[in-house]
Amino acid sequence: SSRWSLKGTTALVTGGTRGIGHAVVEELAEFGATVYTCSRNEEELNKRLNEWKDKGFSVYGSVCDASSSSQREELIRKVASAFNGKLNILVNNAGTNVRKPTIEYTAEDYSKVMTTNLDSAYHLCQLAYSLLKESGNGSIVFISSVASLTSVGSGTIYAASKAAINQLTKSLACEWAKDNIRSNSVAPWYTKTPLVEHLIANEEFVNQVLSRTPIKRIAEAHEVSSLVAFLCLPAASYITGQIVSVDGGFTVNGFQ
Ligand code: NDP
Repeated sequence: SSRWSLKGTTALVTGGTRGIGHAVVEELAEFGATVYTCSRNEEELNKRLNEWKDKGFSVYGSVCDASSSSQREELIRKVASAFNGKLNILVNNAGTNVRKPTIEYTAEDYSKVMTTNLDSAYHLCQLAYSLLKESGNGSIVFISSVASLTSVGSGTIYAASKAAINQLTKSLACEWAKDNIRSNSVAPWYTKTPLVEHLIANEEFVNQVLSRTPIKRIAEAHEVSSLVAFLCLPAASYITGQIVSVDGGFTVNGFQ
């Protein structure tokens, strides 16, 4: 039924060439959405766009460093023109991490993680607001992290950036409900993507992670993208302001 379809809707997903963002692009396209995505590597982006064309998905894209203010403005201009000034779905996925003990972080580390994870999402919400409102039915999904909810030793800048995203999720849900725009966050635990490839190649590290994870495996990207898509469906029309973990039970495990 139409409650379980995104046919006729438009979506912008940042960082769609790899990992969770790639899975989100495909999941939304499979539900019938027309998707626009971006990344910094033009060659990889064009490769993905061709693959999606071959699969029969309607996916467009252009290069954009989401941490750059001028490139974000340019991106939203392109999205507005591709989608006639209307956007139903904004998925703020692009993100990065630098893992160090707190006292070793440099000003550059701080700025890189904050601008990529938080500034990008915050300002894309501002820039996309009128397009989301114009669509008559808007949904913002942030890719947060369980690191926003509990200490996981993956770095304090990252944790702070994701915790800020959680509050932004809640505040926008309240401020923009009158415009028919919902706002939710998905908070994954370790997920098989290039971002954490080097970590999950380390058996000792994985065993440590799994010793705390009731479902004794690391997530697949499509196990995260399914929730992102659900939150955008008409079926989720009364869900807003929520932070939902996709974590194999990690955050509710008080006893190993
Ligand atoms: P990956 O590094 O595997 O993929 C990131 C994607 O985003 C790539 O397409 C990359 O392309 C793009 N990207 C990165 N930086 C920018 C930028 N500045 N501007 C535009 N695009 C960018 O990451 P994941 O899929 O693992 O992570 C996606 C999100 O999920 C992040 O927000 C991350 O914090 C979050 N997350 C991931 C977890 C995991 O275990 N993997 C766990 C919890 C949360 P390019 O480099 O070419 O720009």
